[in-house]
Amino acid sequence: MAEELTPSEREELRIELLRLRGEIESQLEDLALGVRPVDLDEPIGRLSRMDAMQQQKMAEASRRASRQRYDRVLAAIASHKRDEYGDCLHCEEPIGYRRLGAKPETALCLACQTLKEKRR
Ligand SMILES: [Zn+2]
Repeated sequence: MAEELTPSEREELRIELLRLRGEIESQLEDLALGVRPVDLDEPIGRLSRMDAMQQQKMAEASRRASRQRYDRVLAAIASHKRDEYGDCLHCEEPIGYRRLGAKPETALCLACQTLKEKRR
């Protein structure tokens, strides 16, 4: 079972979460520019209309993924303020520094995450 975070690990992850929040915010701004609908009258040069629509689909998918990650980052920052950061949302056991270090917005411990993925 994972250990509780030390105060310095907790602080390190909090700073990383704030950095991530800024990073995803600017990513979302860039992506918003890429998700303009394809204008069928606009001459698009060498890029075929199919390519343009394909690109638009990919931009939408990555915007959705960033948006979901952004929500998880915000939730993690909020749980810091409640002093609950680092505990699994489901079983309330410590998630552990190794796992949080790789992905500080993680809300579930490995066991609960595995269960959740199996149920899908
Ligand atoms: Zn758990």
